[in-house]
Formats: sequence, C-alpha cells, structure tokens
Amino acid sequence: MTVQSVRGFHDILGKEAKKFRKVSNTARRILKLYNFEEIILPVVEYAELFQRSVGETTDIVQKEMFVFEDRKGRKLALRPEGTAGTVRAFIQHKLYALRPYVKLFYEGPMFRYERPQAGRYRQFHQIGAEVFGVAEPHADAEIIKITYDILNALDIKDVVIEINSLGCKKDREAYREALLNYLRGVREELCSDCINRMERNPLRVLDCKVETCREAVKESPKMIDFLCDECRKHYESLKEYLKALNIPFRENYNLVRGLDYYTRTVFEAVSDSLGLTLIAGGRYDYLVEELGGPPTPALGFALGVERLMLLLPDEKEEEEIYFVIPFGNVHAYALKVADRLRSKGKVVELSYRKGGLKKQLEFANKLGVKYAVIVGEDEASKGEVTIKDMETGEQKSVKFEEL
Ligand code: ATP
Ligand code: MG
Repeated sequence: MTVQSVRGFHDILGKEAKKFRKVSNTARRILKLYNFEEIILPVVEYAELFQRSVGETTDIVQKEMFVFEDRKGRKLALRPEGTAGTVRAFIQHKLYALRPYVKLFYEGPMFRYERPQAGRYRQFHQIGAEVFGVAEPHADAEIIKITYDILNALDIKDVVIEINSLGCKKDREAYREALLNYLRGVREELCSDCINRMERNPLRVLDCKVETCREAVKESPKMIDFLCDECRKHYESLKEYLKALNIPFRENYNLVRGLDYYTRTVFEAVSDSLGLTLIAGGRYDYLVEELGGPPTPALGFALGVERLMLLLPDEKEEEEIYFVIPFGNVHAYALKVADRLRSKGKVVELSYRKGGLKKQLEFANKLGVKYAVIVGEDEASKGEVTIKDMETGEQKSVKFEEL
C-alpha cells in the first residue's frame, strides 16, 4: 500500500490552510451582510439529480462525475456542484411555502474527475449562494455585487466581471437553430468533442476551451441578438444597476457557462492573468420546475475557493502569541499560567520542547511568537513569571494575579 493521497485530492496545510480560511471567512461574512442563510448539504446525491439539472451533454455529467453504486445498486454521485442539491432541498422541504423568496448559501467540497493542474483539482471547494423566487434583475445585480464585494474584501484586483444573457426558452430555440447552422459551416475547425455534441447542444461549443473552437466561434451568431423584449429589458436593467453600483463589467456574448440550466443572466469573474474563472453564476428560472417543484425563478453563484487562494499573497502571522516556557518541576504552575492568559483572550502556546533557554528561545523565534513567558522554579515559588518581548528583548517580572 502506498501512503499517498489520491491523484487530484489535496491536503491543504500551513499557509495554504490559512488562505483557505481567509476566503471562507470573508465570503461568509459578506453573505451574512446580505442576510443569506446557510444550508449544509450532503456530499452524495442520486446521480440522476445531476443528469437532470446540470445536463446530459455537459462535461460534468459526461466525463467528470464520480459515480458509484451503493450496496443496493442505486446510482449515486459525489456532488460536482452545489446548485442541484440546493434546489433538491428547496423542493424536498417545501421551502417555497415558508416565504415569498428564499436566500441560501452553502460551502463545501465538490468532486470532478478532471485532469489535475494549477487551480483544477478532483476535490475542490466551493462557496455558493442561491436566491429562489425572484424574477427581477435587481436580484441579479445583487448576486453579482456579492461576488464583487468578496473579491474586494480579499483585495483581489486583476479580475474582470463578464456578463451575458442566454434569454428564455423561446429565445434559445431560435438561437439554437441559427447557431447550429453556423456550426455546420465551420464543422472541420471544431474538436471531436464539439462535433459530437453540437447537434444535441450547440451552445456547448461556445464554452469549449480548445483554441481552434474558440477561433471558429468568434464570428458565430450571438444570443444577445435573439433576446425577446422581456429578456432584453431584463439585461438592460441589469447593466443599469451594475453601473449604479459602480461595478465594472465586460459584455462577453460568447459566455454561456458549462451547465445546462442557465437562463437570462450569466456571469463570470475571470482572471486574465491566470486564464481561469474564479466565480461563476447566473439565473436558472426553469430548474426548480423541471426538478418537480413549483415554477420558481432562481439565480445564484459559486466561487472556487482554491482559485481565489491562487491570488492571495502569503500573509505574515498577525497573532500575538505568548509562549510559556517551563523550566524544572513547574508544570502545574506553567499550565495555570497558560490557562490564565487564555482566559484573558490571549493566544498561548505552552512549550512542549525540552532543553535550555537558548534552544527554547530559538524555537520561540521559529514560531514567530511575540512574548516568551519564562516560568522557572524561582518564579513558581514567588507566584510570578518573567515576560520577555521577543522583538525588543525587554524583560520584566509580572505577578500571576496581574497577568
Ligand atoms: P472551468 O471552466 O474552469 O472548468 P466550470 O465552468 O467547470 O469552470 P463551474 O462549474 O461554474 O466551473 O464552477 C464554479 C467555480 O468552481 C469555477 O469558477 C471555479 O472557480 C471552481 N472550479 C470548477 N471546477 C474546479 C476544479 N476542478 N478545481 C478547482 N476549482 C474548480
Ligand atoms: Mg469545468
């Protein structure tokens, strides 16, 4: 047996773990400002849920899902994304009966069988939010604003928000025909995947990452020209609201997203320097109904935690750590000293290292502590400690009660 993690499955440790928590804490703080409620979803769902929501012709369902049978032969999947599960829960618990609209967020690992590379793993983490029951574009503007706020709070610059509209069902049908006609004309330039899926789902070709496919669709008909009056109005209002909120954006008429359920607004926050999408989302006004719920317009976003981490700088330890060093038979007293400091809200590490003062202080420096709290037999008998400021070297005695 090799004692090794599975390909594409990562340990996140040290500085990386700190970045992970920073992304998570920041996103959660901002979602709280918008009064979203958390839903903690299972990691495993029936595979069919994703086939029906994400879509049969998508990369996710066709080649990226971890699907397995349980002991009774039921086909299960490790969730590849969070929207399907959230919609399932919304329907299952009849959340639509509780309020005129519902705002939920989730956080956790997602699984996709992809070729691992920078910012692309088989287990990765998303934080996402969904709004159910709102059709108006001010909700779209707020969803985009949340992602913008998260990026700003993390001080991530170098990111552009791209938007597009995919229209409603009717618009899509007309567009589908026009696009398919065009694609048949440039068939030779497309990759084999695209040739295979274009008849069933021509929009997918616009989302292909193969360079020749990207070139081939540059001049393709654009969805934006096929929007009905209602959808156009929705799109124009969204742009107006984004401007009012001072959110810079770029219109990308080839933005379709890799999942089938989107309608009207789609958007992505992309890093041009990384060549990766950091955050993605949009509207899915038919999905709740298609999965058996009442007609409910809905929208949301998902951010990739590891992708945002790629753009965070390493951070210096900011915590003021107190490092309690016992010398001699003073462990009971040293434990009490550490306990007292913690009860005052201080971050305290009790040294488990053995050895003399020099070694202890070297280790304290390595840990980046601010104060060494020296507890020898002399100090213990007097009910004191000696505190040494590791930066200035200054040292003083302090009574236990005054700690
Ligand atoms: P990509 O085009 O990069 O494959 P996607 O369209 O498949 O992304 P979504 O399904 O929209 O991505 O997921 C939302 C976000 O989740 C992405 O923008 C990205 O930040 C993150 N993400 C998706 N797949 C992975 C992965 N394999 N590893 C790490 N993060 C991922
Ligand atoms: Mg993908």
